[in-house]
Amino acid sequence: MEERGNISIHTENIFPIIKKFLYSDHEIFLRELVSNAVDATQKMKRLSSIGEYKGDLGELKVVVKVDKDARTITISDNGIGMTAEEIKKYINQIAFSGAAEFVERYKDAGEQNQIIGQFGLGFYSAFMVADRVEIVTKSYKDETESAHWTCDGSTEFAIAPAHKEDRGTNVILNVASDSEEFLETARIRTILDKYCKFLPIPVEFEGEIINNPNPIWTKQPSELTDEDYKNFYKELYPFSEAPLFWIHLNVDYPFNLTGILYFPKLKNDFEIQRNKIQLYSRQVFITDEVKDVVPEFLMLLHGVIDSPDIPLNVSRSFLQADSSVKKINTYITKKVADKLNEIFKKDRTAFETSWEDINVFVKYGMLSDDKFYEKAKDFVLLQNTEGKYYTLEEYKTQAQANQTDKNGQLVLLYTSDADKQHSFVEAAQNRAYDVLKLDSVIDSHFIGMLEQKLEKTTLKRVDSETIDKLVEKDETKESVLNDTEKEDLKKIYETAINNQNMKVEVAPMSPDDAPVIITLPEFMRRMKDMSKAGGGGMMFMGNMPDTYNVTINANHSINQRILKAKDDNKERIARQAFDLALLSQNMLSGSALTAFVKRSVDLIDKE
Ligand code: ADP
Repeated sequence: MEERGNISIHTENIFPIIKKFLYSDHEIFLRELVSNAVDATQKMKRLSSIGEYKGDLGELKVVVKVDKDARTITISDNGIGMTAEEIKKYINQIAFSGAAEFVERYKDAGEQNQIIGQFGLGFYSAFMVADRVEIVTKSYKDETESAHWTCDGSTEFAIAPAHKEDRGTNVILNVASDSEEFLETARIRTILDKYCKFLPIPVEFEGEIINNPNPIWTKQPSELTDEDYKNFYKELYPFSEAPLFWIHLNVDYPFNLTGILYFPKLKNDFEIQRNKIQLYSRQVFITDEVKDVVPEFLMLLHGVIDSPDIPLNVSRSFLQADSSVKKINTYITKKVADKLNEIFKKDRTAFETSWEDINVFVKYGMLSDDKFYEKAKDFVLLQNTEGKYYTLEEYKTQAQANQTDKNGQLVLLYTSDADKQHSFVEAAQNRAYDVLKLDSVIDSHFIGMLEQKLEKTTLKRVDSETIDKLVEKDETKESVLNDTEKEDLKKIYETAINNQNMKVEVAPMSPDDAPVIITLPEFMRRMKDMSKAGGGGMMFMGNMPDTYNVTINANHSINQRILKAKDDNKERIARQAFDLALLSQNMLSGSALTAFVKRSVDLIDKE
């Protein structure tokens, strides 16, 4: 006998509203229905293992079928099934009230977009693609009748006896005309591959099992070999280079979380990251937008995280404030730092070899998370221009003797481009100073952080001062020029250079140092860098021209010659010396370069 009834919810017809909300993400209906089928199958397994069910379990699996002619998609399982009473309770009341609650909660919230893809609508999501849904089901309980339920997405349903012999449930979707894309097997396969790849029960589609029901993150690390981890990485990202190393996450208190995080080879293309960490809840793929679950700097990692404790059905802002999400963040950060420390201690050579790939990640972590900094400060590496690696402590110790200035400040020198700043690097090396290579995108921030954290330590780029001033010592250099001569020389150069943004100064230096040295003060450059990066309140700096210091070496023979030269020749030689300084820094171009070449030819010609 057929029974008809009304689904008891307040909203008359919530279907159109839900359809609109989830418009861009209709495909999740399959995730919802397949995971329901998997749940029902796992319940069956449990009942059997505790002796509640004594019969034959059979081969437990979920089958997805598309029938293009009949315009149906069928999801079948041999799980616990439902009696007619259970359908009324679980489908009519629970599933539909869940949908109603969803609408109530989000209809005015303006947050629909954030929810898409994060919220499992459960059984009701079938109506996103179907205009009529049928359930044919038979409970595992003996002596129960099978049942056939039909509903067209309105609040009305029909329920009648069916003729299903074996235990389990078939959910049949009569696909709506605006959802025909889901009758394409290729489309269904893609969706299954995205959401169901690691479901714990075999899922069959077109005669083959499409999932890996036992992904390695569900196993114990002791059961696994390096090969297993590498193969799994390949399974996740078939087109990527092998990872550097990995961490197996496994906690069950105070929250539940398993997973494997891989350190990829990053090189410098960390901004165009395509591989992302995938978030699962009990092996059901949820999203690869893990922004709020994983600390930002850890998003450079790859792999999977599986946790039923991550609330998936709430909005972003709630997620950020959620305490288990915060704990997960802290836990992952700690694990990652511990792992890096372990590799550093166990195999420093391997760590150094990977440094190029992981330095951005470690520095980013230190910059964004104090707790990570505290751990990473012991293994973060500095590389000098000779390619040698040091820890912070090691480097400070070795630089101490030669690079402490007269105020007791330790000065660490670095280059951001060893090629372009070659003359400065060489000058520093001639004084037995060591020069660090800090040339990645993140290094300007890293440098700022080091100065804040390290006591009595400054970092200066090799070309920010003349060599005597880089590490100021207590010794005064004698000048062969007297004050009047210095003043004269300064005027000659000012006229020759004729540029307001070049601040000329005459200073005694070693006769072996260059006659003219152009530097961009560290302070100026950092302000400009900050303004380029959009730093607060510094915007105006970005539009200001660079102001360079031009230091004239009072003790260089050329400069003595200039003073003695004939009047009409003074400025010419000064300009030539200045151009050479520009040239050594790749700053000479355009008409100035042409003039320089002409002048040089003239000079050689005269010899
Ligand atoms: P949820 O799965 O979050 O509980 P759903 O709306 O997806 O919500 O499903 C409601 C209920 O219907 C489930 O809790 C379950 O009891 C029942 N159900 C759904 N699908 C099946 C199925 N394939 N086999 C047995 N019971 C099912």
